[in-house]
Amino acid sequence: MSVYILIVILIFGLLPHEGFSQLSEKSETKPDYVLVIHGGAGAMERSKMSTEAETAYIKGLLEALEAGEKVLKSGGSSTDAIIAAITWMEDNPLFNAGRGAVYNEMGEIAHDASIMEGAEGKAGAVGAVGIIRNPILAAKAIMDDGRHVFLIGKGAEDFAVKAGVDTVNPSYFFTQARWDSYEKTRQTRIEREFPIKSKGTVGAVALDKNGNLAAGTSTGGMHYKRMGRLGDSPVIGAGTWADNQSCAISATGHGEYFIRNAVAHDIAARMLYAHQSLEQATYDVVMKKLKALEAGGGIIAVDKDGNIAMPFNTSGMFRAYVKAGEAAKAAIYVEEN
Ligand code: ASP
Repeated sequence: MSVYILIVILIFGLLPHEGFSQLSEKSETKPDYVLVIHGGAGAMERSKMSTEAETAYIKGLLEALEAGEKVLKSGGSSTDAIIAAITWMEDNPLFNAGRGAVYNEMGEIAHDASIMEGAEGKAGAVGAVGIIRNPILAAKAIMDDGRHVFLIGKGAEDFAVKAGVDTVNPSYFFTQARWDSYEKTRQTRIEREFPIKSKGTVGAVALDKNGNLAAGTSTGGMHYKRMGRLGDSPVIGAGTWADNQSCAISATGHGEYFIRNAVAHDIAARMLYAHQSLEQATYDVVMKKLKALEAGGGIIAVDKDGNIAMPFNTSGMFRAYVKAGEAAKAAIYVEEN
């Protein structure tokens, strides 16, 4: 090979281009278990993030991952693993879920969350709840009960209380940073034009030792959203999906687009009916379809064989994953793919 061709290959390899904007990993042999989590996608530039913030986010992600991995390692279910990881992030005020959620137009917090199991397609979801400490636990209680899939507002809160899920005074969710953002938008009315500001939604997907997949997502929704607005996160098939025949998905991004495009289900359907690989299906939906609509966001996914994908079309997505027998990995920016 001439030196000239070698230089061209080296330079091209270093240039960022579409195919490099997603991280996916094929597993040669099916791992015993896999856990992937996200802490939201959005505009995240290295130059604008302090080292302290970077360290705190990576630490938060790795701690949540560890909490979930502990469950999988000891033979626990994918459902329990994603619950452990998501509740950890809901309790961490850095993320836009549970404590640390964004405020709506009325200066109130309204959480959305959902969960799905791949074995039998069981699912549960809550929308617009404001007193449940860990909204993902209310979603799980609805799934376990089995009568309904989706409860919102007071009905969801009353159900959660009866099911023994912890409630708190709404002041528990307060963080100064989110309140300052709310006040700024209320006064200027400018930031509502930038919906991706609400980054920090959390989600987890897992494959356990029994081959069962599960997915869950929890969020405060979009910054300065209208009262009563529900995003994709609690919508089964949009923000969350799990099916043992294909994959488990949790999404983050501009929810309206994720609902209109049934993003999570679309990926699974492409795998089942069009026989696309996880890598191809997630790439086509996030990097082509959503990108063409200028719908910012990303997804995390694991398929039935333990392959993972984490494509996003924004400049960053808080993300981390671990496979049995391997070290955990966490990243923020697109150039880390
Ligand atoms: N998808 C969430 C929503 O639309 C927001 C996000 O993921 O940042 O409510």
